[in-house]
Amino acid sequence: MNNMKRNIYIDYAATTYMKSEVLEEMNPYFTEYFGNPSSIHFMSRKTKSAIDKARRRVAKVLNSKADEIFFTSGGSESDNWGIKGVAFANEGKGNHIITTKIEHHAVLNTCKYLEKHGFKVTYLSVNKEGMISLEELKNAISDKTILVSIMFANNEIGTIQPIKEIGEICRAKNVLFHTDAVQATGHVFIDVDEMNIDLLSLSAHKFYGPKGIGVLYIKKGIKIDNLIHGGSQQRAKRSGTENVAGIVGLGKAIELAEETLEEERNRLILLRDKLIDGLLKIPYSKLNGAVGEKRLPGNVNISFEFVDGEALFINLDTMGICASSGSACSAGSVEPSHVLDAIGIPQNMIDSTVRFSMGEKTTEEDIDYLLKVMSDIIERIRKLNSEYKQKLRV
Ligand SMILES: *Cc1c(COP(=O)(O)O)cnc(C)c1O
Repeated sequence: MNNMKRNIYIDYAATTYMKSEVLEEMNPYFTEYFGNPSSIHFMSRKTKSAIDKARRRVAKVLNSKADEIFFTSGGSESDNWGIKGVAFANEGKGNHIITTKIEHHAVLNTCKYLEKHGFKVTYLSVNKEGMISLEELKNAISDKTILVSIMFANNEIGTIQPIKEIGEICRAKNVLFHTDAVQATGHVFIDVDEMNIDLLSLSAHKFYGPKGIGVLYIKKGIKIDNLIHGGSQQRAKRSGTENVAGIVGLGKAIELAEETLEEERNRLILLRDKLIDGLLKIPYSKLNGAVGEKRLPGNVNISFEFVDGEALFINLDTMGICASSGSACSAGSVEPSHVLDAIGIPQNMIDSTVRFSMGEKTTEEDIDYLLKVMSDIIERIRKLNSEYKQKLRV
Protein backbone atom coordinates (compact mmCIF):
# COMPACT_ATOMS: atom_id res chain seq x y z
CA MET A 1 0.00 0.00 0.00
CA ASN A 2 2.97 2.23 -0.64
CA ASN A 3 1.11 4.61 -2.91
CA MET A 4 -1.72 5.27 -0.53
CA LYS A 5 -2.33 8.96 -0.28
CA ARG A 6 -1.83 10.55 3.08
CA ASN A 7 -2.20 14.15 4.13
CA ILE A 8 1.02 15.60 5.43
CA TYR A 9 1.34 19.00 7.04
CA ILE A 10 5.00 19.91 6.73
CA ASP A 11 4.73 23.69 6.88
CA TYR A 12 5.31 24.30 10.61
CA ALA A 13 7.44 27.39 9.90
CA ALA A 14 4.33 29.06 8.48
CA THR A 15 2.31 28.26 11.57
CA THR A 16 1.53 25.44 13.98
CA TYR A 17 -1.66 24.06 15.45
CA MET A 18 -2.17 24.75 19.14
CA LYS A 19 -1.39 22.02 21.66
CA SER A 20 -4.44 20.84 23.59
CA GLU A 21 -2.76 21.63 26.93
CA VAL A 22 -2.42 25.21 25.74
CA LEU A 23 -6.10 25.48 24.83
CA GLU A 24 -7.09 23.93 28.16
CA GLU A 25 -5.16 26.50 30.10
CA MET A 26 -6.58 29.36 28.01
CA ASN A 27 -10.22 28.30 28.11
CA PRO A 28 -11.30 29.68 31.52
CA TYR A 29 -9.94 33.12 30.56
CA PHE A 30 -12.54 33.44 27.80
CA THR A 31 -15.45 32.76 30.13
CA GLU A 32 -14.99 32.33 33.85
CA TYR A 33 -12.04 34.63 34.50
CA PHE A 34 -12.91 37.67 32.47
CA GLY A 35 -12.08 40.47 34.87
CA ASN A 36 -10.20 43.41 33.44
CA PRO A 37 -6.62 43.01 34.70
CA SER A 38 -6.53 46.75 35.44
CA SER A 39 -9.65 46.78 37.63
CA ILE A 40 -9.37 47.05 41.40
CA HIS A 41 -11.67 44.23 42.51
CA PHE A 42 -11.00 40.54 43.10
CA MET A 43 -12.08 39.57 39.56
CA SER A 44 -9.10 41.45 38.23
CA ARG A 45 -6.64 39.71 40.51
CA LYS A 46 -7.10 36.38 38.72
CA THR A 47 -6.35 37.82 35.28
CA LYS A 48 -3.58 40.07 36.50
CA SER A 49 -1.80 37.20 38.19
CA ALA A 50 -2.26 35.05 35.06
CA ILE A 51 -0.47 37.70 33.02
CA ASP A 52 2.31 37.93 35.58
CA LYS A 53 2.72 34.18 35.53
CA ALA A 54 2.99 34.13 31.72
CA ARG A 55 5.54 36.92 31.88
CA ARG A 56 7.63 34.93 34.35
CA ARG A 57 7.42 31.84 32.15
CA VAL A 58 8.71 33.77 29.11
CA ALA A 59 11.43 35.45 31.16
CA LYS A 60 12.62 32.09 32.46
CA VAL A 61 13.00 30.69 28.94
CA LEU A 62 14.79 33.78 27.61
CA ASN A 63 16.79 34.31 30.82
CA SER A 64 15.51 37.86 31.14
CA LYS A 65 13.69 39.62 33.96
CA ALA A 66 9.91 39.42 34.01
CA ASP A 67 9.47 43.18 33.68
CA GLU A 68 11.45 43.14 30.44
CA ILE A 69 8.68 41.14 28.72
CA PHE A 70 6.00 43.05 26.77
CA PHE A 71 3.07 41.34 25.07
CA THR A 72 2.19 42.34 21.52
CA SER A 73 -0.12 41.04 18.80
CA GLY A 74 2.64 38.88 17.31
CA GLY A 75 5.98 38.78 15.56
CA SER A 76 5.22 41.52 13.04
CA GLU A 77 4.18 43.98 15.72
CA SER A 78 7.22 43.15 17.85
CA ASP A 79 9.56 43.71 14.90
CA ASN A 80 7.84 47.00 14.01
CA TRP A 81 7.92 48.27 17.57
CA GLY A 82 11.48 47.17 18.33
CA ILE A 83 12.91 48.83 15.25
CA LYS A 84 10.77 51.97 14.91
CA GLY A 85 10.61 52.47 18.65
CA VAL A 86 14.38 52.43 19.03
CA ALA A 87 14.96 54.44 15.84
CA PHE A 88 12.72 57.34 16.83
CA ALA A 89 13.82 57.35 20.47
CA ASN A 90 17.51 57.48 19.55
CA GLU A 91 17.39 59.87 16.58
CA GLY A 92 19.46 62.32 18.61
CA LYS A 93 22.33 59.87 18.71
CA GLY A 94 22.31 58.85 15.04
CA ASN A 95 20.21 57.79 12.09
CA HIS A 96 21.92 54.63 10.88
CA ILE A 97 20.48 51.14 11.14
CA ILE A 98 22.06 47.86 10.07
CA THR A 99 20.05 44.81 9.07
CA THR A 100 20.39 42.00 6.50
CA LYS A 101 19.01 41.22 3.07
CA ILE A 102 17.34 38.05 4.33
CA GLU A 103 15.11 39.41 7.11
CA HIS A 104 11.38 38.74 7.30
CA HIS A 105 9.29 41.45 5.63
CA ALA A 106 8.20 42.65 9.06
CA VAL A 107 11.79 43.86 9.50
CA LEU A 108 12.63 44.77 5.90
CA ASN A 109 9.51 46.83 5.27
CA THR A 110 9.89 48.55 8.63
CA CYS A 111 13.41 49.56 7.60
CA LYS A 112 12.13 50.77 4.21
CA TYR A 113 9.57 52.90 6.05
CA LEU A 114 12.30 54.40 8.22
CA GLU A 115 14.34 55.23 5.11
CA LYS A 116 11.43 57.44 4.04
CA HIS A 117 11.75 59.22 7.37
CA GLY A 118 15.41 60.12 7.07
CA PHE A 119 17.09 57.00 8.42
CA LYS A 120 19.92 55.31 6.55
CA VAL A 121 19.82 51.54 6.41
CA THR A 122 22.62 49.12 5.54
CA TYR A 123 21.39 45.74 4.29
CA LEU A 124 24.19 43.24 4.93
CA SER A 125 24.64 40.54 2.33
CA VAL A 126 24.98 36.87 3.21
CA ASN A 127 27.10 34.02 1.83
CA LYS A 128 25.60 31.08 -0.02
CA GLU A 129 24.71 29.39 3.27
CA GLY A 130 22.75 32.49 4.27
CA MET A 131 25.30 33.55 6.89
CA ILE A 132 26.31 37.15 7.50
CA SER A 133 29.97 38.14 7.79
CA LEU A 134 31.00 39.43 11.22
CA GLU A 135 33.77 41.45 9.56
CA GLU A 136 31.25 43.14 7.29
CA LEU A 137 29.07 43.90 10.29
CA LYS A 138 31.98 45.44 12.20
CA ASN A 139 32.94 47.56 9.22
CA ALA A 140 29.37 48.75 8.71
CA ILE A 141 29.03 50.15 12.23
CA SER A 142 29.76 53.87 12.42
CA ASP A 143 29.30 56.53 15.10
CA LYS A 144 25.87 57.19 13.54
CA THR A 145 24.71 53.60 14.03
CA ILE A 146 21.98 53.23 16.64
CA LEU A 147 20.59 49.76 15.96
CA VAL A 148 21.54 46.40 14.48
CA SER A 149 18.61 44.11 13.66
CA ILE A 150 19.62 40.60 12.60
CA MET A 151 17.32 37.60 12.67
CA PHE A 152 18.15 34.66 14.91
CA ALA A 153 17.13 32.01 12.39
CA ASN A 154 15.82 32.42 8.86
CA ASN A 155 12.25 31.36 8.15
CA GLU A 156 12.95 30.12 4.61
CA ILE A 157 16.35 28.45 4.61
CA GLY A 158 16.72 27.87 8.36
CA THR A 159 20.17 29.42 8.72
CA ILE A 160 21.05 30.28 12.33
CA GLN A 161 23.21 33.38 12.68
CA PRO A 162 26.13 33.68 15.13
CA ILE A 163 23.94 35.63 17.54
CA LYS A 164 26.31 35.66 20.50
CA GLU A 165 29.16 37.02 18.39
CA ILE A 166 26.87 39.65 16.86
CA GLY A 167 25.78 40.63 20.37
CA GLU A 168 29.39 40.98 21.48
CA ILE A 169 30.23 43.24 18.54
CA CYS A 170 27.21 45.45 19.20
CA ARG A 171 27.94 45.66 22.91
CA ALA A 172 31.58 46.59 22.27
CA LYS A 173 30.53 49.33 19.84
CA ASN A 174 27.72 50.52 22.10
CA VAL A 175 25.01 49.86 19.50
CA LEU A 176 21.64 48.30 20.37
CA PHE A 177 20.96 44.79 19.07
CA HIS A 178 17.49 43.56 18.10
CA THR A 179 16.87 40.03 16.87
CA ASP A 180 13.79 38.56 15.21
CA ALA A 181 13.73 35.22 17.01
CA VAL A 182 10.30 34.19 15.77
CA GLN A 183 11.63 31.01 14.11
CA ALA A 184 14.11 30.24 16.86
CA THR A 185 11.96 30.51 19.97
CA GLY A 186 10.94 27.15 21.34
CA HIS A 187 13.18 25.37 18.85
CA VAL A 188 16.73 26.37 19.73
CA PHE A 189 18.47 27.57 22.88
CA ILE A 190 18.17 31.32 23.58
CA ASP A 191 19.71 33.36 26.38
CA VAL A 192 19.34 37.12 26.00
CA ASP A 193 21.85 37.77 28.76
CA GLU A 194 24.59 35.47 27.54
CA MET A 195 23.98 36.53 23.92
CA ASN A 196 23.97 40.28 24.62
CA ILE A 197 20.54 40.76 23.07
CA ASP A 198 18.83 44.09 23.81
CA LEU A 199 15.52 43.46 22.02
CA LEU A 200 13.97 40.21 20.84
CA SER A 201 10.76 39.40 18.93
CA LEU A 202 8.84 36.15 19.28
CA SER A 203 5.42 34.87 18.27
CA ALA A 204 3.34 32.12 19.90
CA HIS A 205 1.87 30.56 16.75
CA LYS A 206 5.31 29.35 15.68
CA PHE A 207 5.63 27.14 18.76
CA TYR A 208 2.16 25.61 19.23
CA GLY A 209 0.59 28.63 20.88
CA PRO A 210 -2.27 30.83 19.69
CA LYS A 211 -2.12 33.22 16.75
CA GLY A 212 -2.19 36.96 17.34
CA ILE A 213 0.02 37.06 20.42
CA GLY A 214 3.74 37.70 20.70
CA VAL A 215 6.41 39.28 22.83
CA LEU A 216 8.94 42.02 22.53
CA TYR A 217 11.70 41.61 25.09
CA ILE A 218 13.16 45.01 25.90
CA LYS A 219 16.27 45.05 28.05
CA LYS A 220 15.92 47.34 31.03
CA GLY A 221 17.18 50.86 30.46
CA ILE A 222 16.84 50.80 26.66
CA LYS A 223 15.45 53.97 25.14
CA ILE A 224 12.37 53.06 23.10
CA ASP A 225 9.22 54.97 22.16
CA ASN A 226 5.93 53.76 23.56
CA LEU A 227 3.92 51.89 20.93
CA ILE A 228 0.30 52.39 21.90
CA HIS A 229 -0.74 55.44 23.90
CA GLY A 230 -3.73 54.88 26.13
CA GLY A 231 -4.60 53.59 29.54
CA SER A 232 -1.01 52.90 30.57
CA GLN A 233 -1.12 49.09 30.54
CA GLN A 234 2.25 47.33 30.30
CA ARG A 235 3.94 50.29 31.98
CA ALA A 236 2.45 52.67 29.40
CA LYS A 237 4.66 51.23 26.68
CA ARG A 238 1.88 49.29 24.97
CA SER A 239 -1.51 50.34 26.26
CA GLY A 240 -4.80 48.55 25.76
CA THR A 241 -6.56 45.87 27.77
CA GLU A 242 -4.39 42.78 27.52
CA ASN A 243 -5.27 39.73 25.43
CA VAL A 244 -5.39 37.66 28.61
CA ALA A 245 -6.27 34.28 27.08
CA GLY A 246 -3.65 34.75 24.38
CA ILE A 247 -1.02 35.70 26.94
CA VAL A 248 -1.88 32.66 29.07
CA GLY A 249 -1.59 30.47 25.96
CA LEU A 250 1.76 31.94 25.00
CA GLY A 251 3.10 31.35 28.50
CA LYS A 252 1.98 27.73 28.53
CA ALA A 253 3.26 27.10 24.99
CA ILE A 254 6.72 28.51 25.66
CA GLU A 255 7.02 26.46 28.83
CA LEU A 256 6.04 23.26 27.00
CA ALA A 257 8.41 24.06 24.14
CA GLU A 258 11.27 24.53 26.58
CA GLU A 259 10.53 21.21 28.29
CA THR A 260 10.66 19.26 25.03
CA LEU A 261 13.25 21.39 23.21
CA GLU A 262 16.27 19.12 23.48
CA GLU A 263 14.47 15.86 22.75
CA GLU A 264 12.42 17.31 19.89
CA ARG A 265 15.45 19.01 18.44
CA ASN A 266 17.41 15.75 18.29
CA ARG A 267 14.44 13.90 16.80
CA LEU A 268 13.86 16.52 14.11
CA ILE A 269 17.52 16.74 13.14
CA LEU A 270 17.49 13.01 12.30
CA LEU A 271 14.33 13.41 10.20
CA ARG A 272 15.65 16.58 8.59
CA ASP A 273 18.90 15.00 7.52
CA LYS A 274 17.13 11.90 6.25
CA LEU A 275 14.85 14.08 4.13
CA ILE A 276 17.76 16.17 2.86
CA ASP A 277 19.87 13.12 1.97
CA GLY A 278 16.94 11.48 0.19
CA LEU A 279 15.97 14.57 -1.80
CA LEU A 280 19.56 15.22 -2.84
CA LYS A 281 19.58 11.77 -4.47
CA ILE A 282 17.17 13.22 -7.05
CA PRO A 283 19.38 14.47 -9.91
CA TYR A 284 19.84 18.24 -10.34
CA SER A 285 18.67 19.08 -6.83
CA LYS A 286 20.36 21.57 -4.55
CA LEU A 287 20.14 22.22 -0.80
CA ASN A 288 19.76 25.86 0.20
CA GLY A 289 21.14 27.06 3.53
CA ALA A 290 23.63 25.62 5.98
CA VAL A 291 24.11 22.10 7.29
CA GLY A 292 24.35 20.67 10.80
CA GLU A 293 24.17 22.92 13.84
CA LYS A 294 23.80 26.09 11.79
CA ARG A 295 20.44 24.97 10.43
CA LEU A 296 17.07 24.95 12.22
CA PRO A 297 16.23 21.39 13.29
CA GLY A 298 13.01 21.21 11.27
CA ASN A 299 14.00 23.07 8.10
CA VAL A 300 14.60 21.61 4.65
CA ASN A 301 14.85 23.86 1.59
CA ILE A 302 15.69 22.38 -1.79
CA SER A 303 15.66 23.64 -5.38
CA PHE A 304 15.08 21.40 -8.36
CA GLU A 305 16.45 22.31 -11.76
CA PHE A 306 14.38 21.63 -14.90
CA VAL A 307 11.13 21.63 -12.96
CA ASP A 308 8.17 23.91 -13.54
CA GLY A 309 7.35 25.41 -10.15
CA GLU A 310 3.63 25.73 -10.71
CA ALA A 311 3.31 22.10 -11.80
CA LEU A 312 5.37 21.04 -8.78
CA PHE A 313 3.09 22.72 -6.26
CA ILE A 314 -0.12 21.61 -7.93
CA ASN A 315 1.21 18.05 -7.75
CA LEU A 316 2.24 18.37 -4.11
CA ASP A 317 -1.18 19.70 -3.22
CA THR A 318 -2.85 16.85 -5.10
CA MET A 319 -0.75 14.36 -3.16
CA GLY A 320 -1.91 15.90 0.13
CA ILE A 321 1.36 17.59 1.00
CA CYS A 322 1.27 21.04 2.62
CA ALA A 323 4.65 22.68 2.00
CA SER A 324 5.85 26.16 1.03
CA SER A 325 7.28 27.40 -2.24
CA GLY A 326 10.23 29.65 -2.97
CA SER A 327 7.92 32.29 -4.25
CA ALA A 328 5.31 33.92 -2.08
CA CYS A 329 1.95 34.91 -3.42
CA SER A 330 1.30 38.42 -2.21
CA ALA A 331 -1.70 40.42 -3.35
CA GLY A 332 -2.25 38.18 -6.34
CA SER A 333 1.22 38.47 -7.82
CA VAL A 334 4.05 36.00 -7.36
CA GLU A 335 7.11 37.47 -5.66
CA PRO A 336 10.31 35.45 -5.92
CA SER A 337 11.93 34.95 -2.52
CA HIS A 338 14.38 37.73 -1.60
CA VAL A 339 16.16 35.24 0.66
CA LEU A 340 16.89 32.77 -2.15
CA ASP A 341 17.87 35.67 -4.35
CA ALA A 342 20.31 36.89 -1.67
CA ILE A 343 22.07 33.51 -1.54
CA GLY A 344 22.44 33.52 -5.32
CA ILE A 345 19.74 31.14 -6.49
CA PRO A 346 18.73 31.96 -10.09
CA GLN A 347 15.09 32.93 -10.74
CA ASN A 348 14.14 29.71 -12.53
CA MET A 349 15.39 27.68 -9.56
CA ILE A 350 13.62 29.92 -7.05
CA ASP A 351 10.30 29.02 -8.62
CA SER A 352 11.01 25.32 -8.20
CA THR A 353 12.17 25.53 -4.59
CA VAL A 354 10.32 23.73 -1.81
CA ARG A 355 10.53 24.45 1.89
CA PHE A 356 9.53 21.59 4.14
CA SER A 357 9.34 22.55 7.79
CA MET A 358 8.81 19.74 10.23
CA GLY A 359 7.33 19.67 13.68
CA GLU A 360 5.95 17.64 16.51
CA LYS A 361 3.68 15.39 14.45
CA THR A 362 6.15 14.71 11.65
CA THR A 363 7.07 11.03 11.57
CA GLU A 364 9.59 8.87 9.77
CA GLU A 365 6.69 7.40 7.73
CA ASP A 366 5.92 10.93 6.54
CA ILE A 367 9.49 11.35 5.35
CA ASP A 368 9.43 8.01 3.53
CA TYR A 369 6.17 8.91 1.81
CA LEU A 370 7.46 12.35 0.94
CA LEU A 371 10.65 11.01 -0.62
CA LYS A 372 8.69 8.58 -2.76
CA VAL A 373 6.15 11.18 -3.86
CA MET A 374 8.77 13.83 -4.56
CA SER A 375 10.90 11.66 -6.80
CA ASP A 376 7.80 10.52 -8.72
CA ILE A 377 6.53 14.08 -9.16
CA ILE A 378 9.88 15.51 -10.21
CA GLU A 379 10.44 12.72 -12.72
CA ARG A 380 6.96 13.19 -14.19
CA ILE A 381 7.30 16.96 -14.54
CA ARG A 382 10.79 16.75 -16.00
CA LYS A 383 9.56 14.45 -18.77
CA LEU A 384 7.62 17.47 -20.06
CA ASN A 385 10.53 19.90 -19.72
CA SER A 386 12.18 20.66 -23.05
CA GLU A 387 15.43 21.87 -21.50
CA TYR A 388 15.68 18.65 -19.54
CA LYS A 389 14.98 16.55 -22.62
CA GLN A 390 17.71 18.47 -24.39
CA LYS A 391 20.04 17.78 -21.51
CA LEU A 392 19.37 14.05 -21.66
CA ARG A 393 20.20 14.00 -25.34
CA VAL A 394 23.63 15.60 -25.04
C1 LIG B 1 6.18 34.39 11.20
C2 LIG B 1 7.31 35.32 11.28
C3 LIG B 1 7.12 36.67 11.60
C4 LIG B 1 5.74 37.27 11.77
O1 LIG B 1 5.13 36.81 12.94
P1 LIG B 1 3.54 37.01 13.07
O2 LIG B 1 3.26 36.58 14.46
O3 LIG B 1 2.92 36.11 12.05
O4 LIG B 1 3.25 38.43 12.82
C5 LIG B 1 8.22 37.47 11.72
N1 LIG B 1 9.46 36.99 11.54
C6 LIG B 1 9.70 35.70 11.23
C7 LIG B 1 11.11 35.22 11.07
C8 LIG B 1 8.63 34.83 11.09
O5 LIG B 1 8.86 33.56 10.77
